[in-house]
Amino acid sequence: MKNLVRLSVILCVALGAAFAAAPRAPNIVFIFSDDHAYQAISAYGDSRRLLETPNLDRLAKTGVRFDRCLVPNSICGPSRAVVLTGKYNHLNGFVNNSNSRFDGSQVTFPKLLQKVGYQTAVVGKWHLISDPTGFDFWQVLPGQGLYYNPPMIRMGEQVKTSGYVTDIVTDLSLEWLRKRDKSKPFLLMSQHKAPHREWAPALRHLGADKDRVYPEPETLFDDYANRGIAVRDQDMTLEKTFTPRDAKLEAPPNMTAEQRKAWDAYYEPRNAKFQAANLSGKDLVRWRYQRYMHDYTGTVRAVDESVGRLLDYLEQEGIADNTIVVYSSDQGFFLGEHGWFDKRWIFEESARTPLLVRWPGVSRAGSVSKDIVSNLDFAQTFLDAAGVAAPVDMQGRSLRPVLAGQRPADWRTSFYYQYFEWPRPHHVRPHYGVITDRYKLVHFFGTADDYWELYDREKDPMELRNVLADPAYAKTKVELEQELARLRRELKVPERIPPEWLGNVGGGEGKAKKKSAKAP
Ligand code: CA
Repeated sequence: MKNLVRLSVILCVALGAAFAAAPRAPNIVFIFSDDHAYQAISAYGDSRRLLETPNLDRLAKTGVRFDRCLVPNSICGPSRAVVLTGKYNHLNGFVNNSNSRFDGSQVTFPKLLQKVGYQTAVVGKWHLISDPTGFDFWQVLPGQGLYYNPPMIRMGEQVKTSGYVTDIVTDLSLEWLRKRDKSKPFLLMSQHKAPHREWAPALRHLGADKDRVYPEPETLFDDYANRGIAVRDQDMTLEKTFTPRDAKLEAPPNMTAEQRKAWDAYYEPRNAKFQAANLSGKDLVRWRYQRYMHDYTGTVRAVDESVGRLLDYLEQEGIADNTIVVYSSDQGFFLGEHGWFDKRWIFEESARTPLLVRWPGVSRAGSVSKDIVSNLDFAQTFLDAAGVAAPVDMQGRSLRPVLAGQRPADWRTSFYYQYFEWPRPHHVRPHYGVITDRYKLVHFFGTADDYWELYDREKDPMELRNVLADPAYAKTKVELEQELARLRRELKVPERIPPEWLGNVGGGEGKAKKKSAKAP
């Protein structure tokens, strides 16, 4: 017995020394916006120079800018489920925004961090229908949330707020940080509604662009030639889909009289001028594009300020050197390319999301990575940082070596993409495919129009030509087909997609496919 006690004492002392010697687990600040296109972050250097984002650029300069961060499914809820679980949607169960509900009993990275002593919080946009799990504190927007005076749910209770949503999310994030238990490491997920549709800027940012004229994307008037019916038949154009509310011919909901007065003071004279001009055809599309860019970049300005406030806090608190800061969005977004707004497609502006990461002591400041990474990798990256072994069924990989500029020899060179939601709200046909550094092979499935396309981004960076039938690509096509099949096996993609995954079955075009949608 005496020996056993002595052994225990020795063990405890040894373990204590090991803990004391280990570096403190880093804090994690995860800033996540909704529908933020990389084209609207100045650090990404879009040729249109849509706006300056000094605070996001500050993060890019002190961390790593990822130029090829791809999402498995370019739509809000599914993307958030990927982040939390480190798994594709066919395994985490949240496949579309129409009828999915997140199973909060499954393993997520915040739960695993909690287990090893992290304090965890999520504030802002959630959009997974069920209540958050794995968080010591949560205060989220119900559904899509409102831009002005948004109702919120705090730990299950409805609460009122007043002000602009991005500022509220930032204030709540900072308040939680100030009140946290400083003896423990933390995970804060600060998640914005902005710059989601209907792109309502903060009052202080109305006119921040001084009525500049934004350069148009080259494909604003895409004629959709050389591609299949899916591209022609979508419903997300500035020409046909853009609503009076999108155009701010109607004010956003839920403003106070005072807010509305300031809003109208900016928009009313400009709207009157627009009505008097009686525009049509391409002129109308051009006007809408300008209005869209004013409003979209306006909402991004507040997100950028939010990033600045959080970075400032970490510095003032003296914890910046032990805090990982990540900025990303749930997917990319079309800013007029192909005449579109929205996302969903395997095409670059949609499937590629911004990612800026600063991991003190690991990431190389000011560097750029062109490696194929994904929001699928976030969970395993955070677990790695906390010294927690990731569950074997997670499907991503820690970004640590890539952040350090040491890409492992077996890092992924291809990526599997899938999208299900059909036919509403934007009439984008379900599709899946493989993305490589240069190519995309896509299969549109689940409707009467079942067909494949192949894009060569090296020769066709704007993805305007399907070269599937071009004999010059015959060998490439076979190689991509093989790689796609390999990825589907590796990722456990089911052969047959359950009809409810397509979302709106029972209505419209979904009805014909009620039995099953074969996705070979
Ligand atoms: Ca989104």
